[in-house]
Amino acid sequence: MESISRCIYPAYSLAISNRAIKKINQVNFNYIWRKKTHYIKKTVLAKKYEDGGLEAIDFDYMNGTLKINWLKSFLNTNNLWFHIPRQIFKMLGGIEFLLRCDFLIQKLPIKLSLFHQQVLLYWKLLYNHNFTPHNSPIWNNRYITVRNKSLFYKEWLDKGIWSPVHLVDNTGQFLSYNDFCLKYGYFTNVKTFKLVTKAIPDSILHLIKGIVTTSTNFTYPQLPLILIGDCNFREIPIQNKTIRYLFIHILFPFQSYKNCILNFFPKDTVPLLRVQYLKFPIPPKMKEIHYRTFNGIYPSNDFLHQRFGFETNCCSFCNTDIETTDHLFFHCNFSSTFWQDVFK
Ligand SMILES: [Zn+2]
Repeated sequence: MESISRCIYPAYSLAISNRAIKKINQVNFNYIWRKKTHYIKKTVLAKKYEDGGLEAIDFDYMNGTLKINWLKSFLNTNNLWFHIPRQIFKMLGGIEFLLRCDFLIQKLPIKLSLFHQQVLLYWKLLYNHNFTPHNSPIWNNRYITVRNKSLFYKEWLDKGIWSPVHLVDNTGQFLSYNDFCLKYGYFTNVKTFKLVTKAIPDSILHLIKGIVTTSTNFTYPQLPLILIGDCNFREIPIQNKTIRYLFIHILFPFQSYKNCILNFFPKDTVPLLRVQYLKFPIPPKMKEIHYRTFNGIYPSNDFLHQRFGFETNCCSFCNTDIETTDHLFFHCNFSSTFWQDVFK
């Protein structure tokens, strides 16, 4: 596990390529499986014990956690160290505004460093984007583009213009340039005005029209909150572990597999079965056998026969029945005699 800690420091300040992430995961998960077959997907192993995982570290989400932490510090401090990124993101309305936009990195009108790109990519994975056409800013919007680049005009945002609703009248039609200037003042020229209104696709205008004209309880547009999971990203201190599990939870909500114990035991007893044995004073090897058993990957003869074509699937004790995990531990005459002795 030392390898992981060595990778953390560079991940604080550099973008880590997908190739490197894959390689690091390969080394780590090969270590867990002792360079043999990986029986359980790494996304399952990365889950919490009670969810059937081993709390193994998937470097992708570890990297994501560090990037999200950087974003959190960037949002919450006025530290001098953030001067350069602050200037860069100012061109898009500042980081706090950008995070609320439905942006696509490739369409942003400025070229971001790989590090900042990676930060924003991880952000997009975690962010709860509740799409509503009137609350989604027209700025930095992946659907509102000119020559395939999204738009951002600071003077417009300064005037409080960011929702498509701000550009239409009460019948849902675009304001004329003159009406627009009467409403907000003569701060922009007709060319820019036409550029912006033309960039807004008909489909969005149509939705806005529907909202403005028919919705009886239409509320004025409000910028979305910056939420990840159920937490307000700005306010609550979030632990690294929480962020990491949030990634796994959002991206891999539930994975059922053939021999999952959920198929055999009631749902409410499963978490206990998955964690209770960890506290027993038994050697790690025994715990490993337990984990393998309840995940249906114990290398019984039947399992090895089915999976790898081993010649025999006969029980090593009685030599008559098929050696399934159940048979080996419980139903075999030898094992059941043993259990009877134990419970005498
Ligand atoms: Zn047997």
